[in-house]
Amino acid sequence: MPVRKPLSEDRIVSLHGAGGELMNRLITELLELFPLRSAGGVGLDALDDGASVDLPEEGKLVITTDSHVVKPLFFPGGDIGRLAACGTLNDLAVMGASPVAMSLGLIVEEGFAISELKKILSSLAGVLAETGVALVTGDTKVMGKGELDGLVLNTTGVGVARTVIRDAGLRPGDKIIVTGTVGDHGMAILAAREGLPVEGEIRSDVAPIWPLVERALSIGGITAMKDPTRGGLAAALNEMARKSNVGIVIRESEIPVREEVRALAEMLGISPYALACEGKALMGVSPGKAEEVLRAIREHPLGREARVIGEAIPEHRGKVILETRVGGRRYLEMPLGDPMPRIC
Ligand code: MG
Repeated sequence: MPVRKPLSEDRIVSLHGAGGELMNRLITELLELFPLRSAGGVGLDALDDGASVDLPEEGKLVITTDSHVVKPLFFPGGDIGRLAACGTLNDLAVMGASPVAMSLGLIVEEGFAISELKKILSSLAGVLAETGVALVTGDTKVMGKGELDGLVLNTTGVGVARTVIRDAGLRPGDKIIVTGTVGDHGMAILAAREGLPVEGEIRSDVAPIWPLVERALSIGGITAMKDPTRGGLAAALNEMARKSNVGIVIRESEIPVREEVRALAEMLGISPYALACEGKALMGVSPGKAEEVLRAIREHPLGREARVIGEAIPEHRGKVILETRVGGRRYLEMPLGDPMPRIC
């Protein structure tokens, strides 16, 4: 018979994921961090085999899922908990969906500090409370020491959209709006991980964007949306151009990039346009509505730096053209991948 290691009060042990009393005790403690535990039906408190969610009669159900593996777990501007909540809620938001409920799968390495786990889940819970989203179901698994690098969070989000917005809906003539500075999250992770010298401060932009998106949707005219996460602005625009079968022209002088991010990117020889954002949206807006939508976005604290950065065109289908500051034109290529692994 294998010898059981002594139970620890402050570290995760394998029994925390073993479905018995110790797991129940941990989960009960963690549940207290979440103020909203039901979306109308069977909720998290029931600890049943699943949850049910009351949905309005009108609208489409939108579902999204993510696994979060960011390294380091804590970074300037956020942590894996905030990132997990925002990543999932933002994917719903850019589908045009008001977020309703979320699930949380915890995969933890044996030996992980329970205090850190609580800190991370508090920050996740904070985003859910702020956005009125219920955590309705979850799962906890423990992997052995060395079988996992600390912690992985898996989240599934459920939302309701009056009209589902796709990333494939651009039409020639549509204006392209970015809701703020690009590259902040990717650069914050890179700088934290590599201990890079930073002039000023570089923080992740990780934030829930539904309130801002909702404002924009209420004006109307939005034809396409996407959040520029892995692969940044370059990947998101290329995907939108390809799927919509239009060209996109972007003016570099209009793309908002923080000075600190631009300087560090230049020093490292990487493009800030390929670095992830975690609190931004790209929108295609019909030309007649673009000014009004931009104004509405800029009234929101997360949208102060929003800009029209270009437009969709009928030529160069599937391609993104960057008009550089000095007046040149080149393709903004689809990045092979984000410059770094494990950023979200
Ligand atoms: Mg997305």
